[in-house]
Amino acid sequence: MRALYRRLDRRITSFRRVSGLGCPPGCGECCLSPEVEATVLEMLPLALDLRRRGLVEPTLARLGPGGEPPRPCLFYSPAPLGAFGGHCSVYPWRPLLCRLFGFAAVAGPEGRPELAVCGRMRAALPDRTRAAAAAVLAGRLRAPLMRDWSLAAYRLDPALGANPLPINSALKQALERVGLEQGLRAQPAHGAR
Ligand code: SF4
Repeated sequence: MRALYRRLDRRITSFRRVSGLGCPPGCGECCLSPEVEATVLEMLPLALDLRRRGLVEPTLARLGPGGEPPRPCLFYSPAPLGAFGGHCSVYPWRPLLCRLFGFAAVAGPEGRPELAVCGRMRAALPDRTRAAAAAVLAGRLRAPLMRDWSLAAYRLDPALGANPLPINSALKQALERVGLEQGLRAQPAHGAR
């Protein structure tokens, strides 16, 4: 997944350079949606980083028992009181949708790629957004296709990469897996003294 994220980041950087699109400074509006989804596979790099930092149990405690309605991502840090926006506190480890949102295309009604435009970006950069959307639709500009990147991840591990879940649920499952694996490794082999 980490190699796939690196490849995607290069692709998005190139798209951003050519299109001139970018998030409005300090905007974290998309992180506030409880509808951000990821697969367990996409959350494994973050789970492994949290394990490396000894934060599996504290993070699981913050996530709670599960089963409640989806909440905004645990790792969004709002700006101090009264200030606009916020930021992602796990930026290098964020999942696919967090990387692609605003810079990717989806298949339109006729199967042609259409830029999935972010409303905040459209408001901040109306001319660039309009030009980029038109260029993608006309085939003059290639935006990363959401479906292609989801499929590339799925192919790495179909069992863990098949089901998008609310982001906090996907993280919880990823943490439980890496925590369990660590616990198993720490146990002495059967019969050992
Ligand atoms: S992982 Fe980061 S970018 Fe993605 S929703 Fe959470 S705070 Fe936002």
